[in-house]
Amino acid sequence: MCQTHVLRVTAAKAPFEKASIERRALRPDDVAIDIKFSGICHSDIHSAHGDWAGGIFPMVPGHEITGIVTAVGERVKTFAVGDRVGVGCYVDSCGACEYCLRGEEQHCAKGFVATYNSLDYDGNPTYGGYSQHIVVTERFVVRIPDRLALDAASPLLCAGITTYAPLKRWKAGPGKRIAILGMGGLGHVAIQFAHAMGAEVTVLSRAKDKASEALRFGADHYYSTVDPETFNDLAGRFDLILNTVSANIDVDLYLSLLRVDGTLVNVGAPAEPSQYNVFSLIMSRRSIAGSLVGGLPETQEMLDFAAAHDIVPQIEVIRAEQVDEAYDRILRSDVRYRFVIDISSL
Ligand code: NAP
Ligand code: ZN
Repeated sequence: MCQTHVLRVTAAKAPFEKASIERRALRPDDVAIDIKFSGICHSDIHSAHGDWAGGIFPMVPGHEITGIVTAVGERVKTFAVGDRVGVGCYVDSCGACEYCLRGEEQHCAKGFVATYNSLDYDGNPTYGGYSQHIVVTERFVVRIPDRLALDAASPLLCAGITTYAPLKRWKAGPGKRIAILGMGGLGHVAIQFAHAMGAEVTVLSRAKDKASEALRFGADHYYSTVDPETFNDLAGRFDLILNTVSANIDVDLYLSLLRVDGTLVNVGAPAEPSQYNVFSLIMSRRSIAGSLVGGLPETQEMLDFAAAHDIVPQIEVIRAEQVDEAYDRILRSDVRYRFVIDISSL
């Protein structure tokens, strides 16, 4: 067992406080990690604010973890002390169901164990990356390529895989017109992946002042969604819209931007149900879909792809005592484009 300092909230919407918890003693398949950086995902806010049902408090959020291996269990084969590693959104799954066997642990039939706000298979609450150390089963640890810095790489562990996986599944590539809706933590990484995959990329954002940054990330076009002309100009244009917005959108309005057979894929996860008119689908054989992070093999593939294509999240590194302020700023969309906690400040 090892004591580790954490940042936790004791109730929904409570401010963060420093505390200490115990990490489990190393099991034969475990990797112990000294956490260096932890990104702040909007899902951390949904969870810590109790937006989604079933919050477990006290809660230590954080599922964009990078760090250095400090110890390995006797059966660990792929990692050694000193390795640069990452941990994403989940830390266990059954390993035996059809989904786990094909590397889609996020769809584990038994239910995966999330990195925080979850119970592990022994019934103990899990605590995430806003902490100095974590102990994780080898299967859920990925390698950070040497070309990626540990601070800028951390958002890839969630924002990266959550956007890479659907872009690949819905075949973003040459000849495809892709819209990235919302240019926050997920959105700004999605632009880079879609561009690197060879698609024609359009950014749809409320902001009027992010165009030059969007183009720098690889977008071909930028439209502000507060401008009603946008929806006339772009009617029937896209093969795929990747919706990264953390709030409900006007689904019919965005479906009208899809061509025949186009798909609106939701990764943004507001708590409230949304509505649409079935005729928005029927008349042009359109689809609505969703996508949840991605499996472990694909997470490693995404990291290697990011390293090979110089895909780097744009981050603002903050200290532990700035997390409450960072949450407020994310809720005001005042972030360019991901806050990352320097864990040495904890
Ligand atoms: P973020 O950095 O806050 O970005 C969300 C963006 O959505 C904002 O930058 C803003 O973009 C837009 N937005 C926010 N509020 C809006 C509103 N009321 N109306 C219209 N647009 C609005 O959040 P994130 O970390 O990228 O996460 C985005 C969402 O994805 C969250 O709901 C999160 O829980 C979810 N998520 C899902 C998965 C998954 O596996 N499916 C994984 C990770 C995160 P503009 O200012 O450019 O318009
Ligand atoms: Zn996340």
